[in-house]
Amino acid sequence: MASPIAFKPLSENKTLQILSAAEQGHYAVVSPVIYNLEHIIGSIRAAEAKRAPLIIEMFPWAITFSSGLLVHCAAQAAKQATIPVSVHLDHAQDEEQIRYAADNLPFDSIMIDMSHHEREENLRKTKELTEYCHERGIAVEAEPGRIEGGEDGIADTAELEGVLTTEKDVEDFAAAGVDVLAPAIGNVHGSYGARGPQFDLKRLQNIQSSIAGRMRIALHGTTGVPDELLRQCIAKGVTKVNVNK
Ligand SMILES: [Zn+2]
Repeated sequence: MASPIAFKPLSENKTLQILSAAEQGHYAVVSPVIYNLEHIIGSIRAAEAKRAPLIIEMFPWAITFSSGLLVHCAAQAAKQATIPVSVHLDHAQDEEQIRYAADNLPFDSIMIDMSHHEREENLRKTKELTEYCHERGIAVEAEPGRIEGGEDGIADTAELEGVLTTEKDVEDFAAAGVDVLAPAIGNVHGSYGARGPQFDLKRLQNIQSSIAGRMRIALHGTTGVPDELLRQCIAKGVTKVNVNK
């Protein structure tokens, strides 16, 4: 059956183009989670006012809610924008849904989040789904280790122990073909509480060195993170900053 979407080669992928430019320019791109049409319009207007690129992202409920209409809205808005905008699916945890999204919806990139599985299983599933997405011109983000906490509609990993990303993880996820790495460096989904964020910046530095330009770096769990800490993370290679709320 013919796909409803004309796939472009990965070399023309919009998310990767936006992040490569950010890496070369030593800046990061904000990636807001949108929940409705007003969020899409507001985010793009703000980015246009700053002449800044943007990666709009949404959680998987946006696919089931109104049969993906919100994804089409975001893609059309991205197309009309006067700055580069791509559309990303964050924390996709359902393999069937990932395949459906890759086949039918206008996402530029998908975060394949298999972090609720044990390491080997996470890797195996990530590799398989990455190939599936790449064949359709869609870039892939993945999370080695485990970022604690829960987000809207996403399986809460607060009961599972957070696992920090290692240099071995970097090698394995690079080998799996992942384009964007979302490391666990002490970052948490949700709020940081009284102590504030305690990031392992040395670990981030090592991750950047190990990556050696093979993948871009996304930072999750930025609610309540001070600007100065964000700047330090950007200096250590972060080019995609996820913002939820
Ligand atoms: Zn996240």
